[in-house]
Amino acid sequence: MIRYPKRDDLRAMAGYHSPQVSVQVRLNTNESPVEPPAEFVQALAAAVSDVRWNRYPDRAARELRTAIGALHGVSPDNVFVANGSNEVLQSVLLAYGGAGRTVATFEPTYQLHSHIARITGATVVSGRRNADFTLDANEVQRVLDAHAPSVTFLCSPNNPTGMAEDPSVIASTIKNAPGIVVVDEAYAQFSPHTALDYVNDESRVAVSRTFSKTWSMAAARLGYVIGPKWMVEDLEIVTLPYHLDALKQIAGCLAVQYHDHMQRGVQEVVSERERLLSAMRAMPLTVWPSQANFILFKPTTVTAKGSTAVGVAGRRIWQALLDGGVLVRDCSSWEGLADCLRVTVGTRGENDAFLAVLRTALTARD
Ligand code: PMP
Repeated sequence: MIRYPKRDDLRAMAGYHSPQVSVQVRLNTNESPVEPPAEFVQALAAAVSDVRWNRYPDRAARELRTAIGALHGVSPDNVFVANGSNEVLQSVLLAYGGAGRTVATFEPTYQLHSHIARITGATVVSGRRNADFTLDANEVQRVLDAHAPSVTFLCSPNNPTGMAEDPSVIASTIKNAPGIVVVDEAYAQFSPHTALDYVNDESRVAVSRTFSKTWSMAAARLGYVIGPKWMVEDLEIVTLPYHLDALKQIAGCLAVQYHDHMQRGVQEVVSERERLLSAMRAMPLTVWPSQANFILFKPTTVTAKGSTAVGVAGRRIWQALLDGGVLVRDCSSWEGLADCLRVTVGTRGENDAFLAVLRTALTARD
């Protein structure tokens, strides 16, 4: 059997992987450590028998879009739903990216923005964040002026660096961008502000959200965008028929009934995040501030003779954590993130385990 060549433009690309290693403490993919409420699980189990399994689901997912719209005080016509916010982003990029068009990102940021853009055939142009990972309005303007991107991505809070984008930079980007501005708000509930107020039918703004982080529903794969009506119509063109299965639609409708539970979970995570931050700041680490459910950090490199070379210390700590049964995200090979690791805020017990193994790893010198 001879392998058939893939598209030329995919040749240099690798798939996007976050290792799913079987370990006791998994703090690498920013899920919620909080289980969904038992009543939710029971109601969902009961709903399985109500599904008409021989029939296609509601193609327009009307009930779910109405429930999500009510959550944000917008019409269902301003809501587009898909299988996780990654699929939402893919739909936006299929509709507005693609061959001959340009997509702008500000690195380091969520890798899937540029990855999916390239898969659609778009050219990716990347601006840089400041050394502290904040975003400078002048840098955004430079990229907008130089490339007139069809789609510009902001990520608030930004993954993997942790802070929400400066509201004035969000405002100026929305004001000046010639194309669509996507504000990826996968972690918005952990942070102080949102760009939702910028969305209206005269705007070109799309705010994407997910059920994977705060809603304790990563297994279900559900995400959505709040955007102008014309955009939701455009997104429907690139969406496969019946893409959202019946059970997932029910799960989403049920989940929003447990809004208070979700918010309590967010508060627990935020207070654990603050506890982690102060414990980590007392260690030989550079720790970046966070307004999300994860923390970016790197070991302080030793500069004396025989020191750990840049890019090696981070990987060594990642491995030591793994050997100690704790999986975090290794960002050390990503551009602009030499030596950096990202830990998801877990339960109190998981966080204690992480801190203990980290402490040991940092005292062992290579
Ligand atoms: N956006 C950001 C910034 C993320 O970090 C993630 C998940 N890692 C997603 C989108 C995708 O989430 P999902 O597809 O699970 O909704």
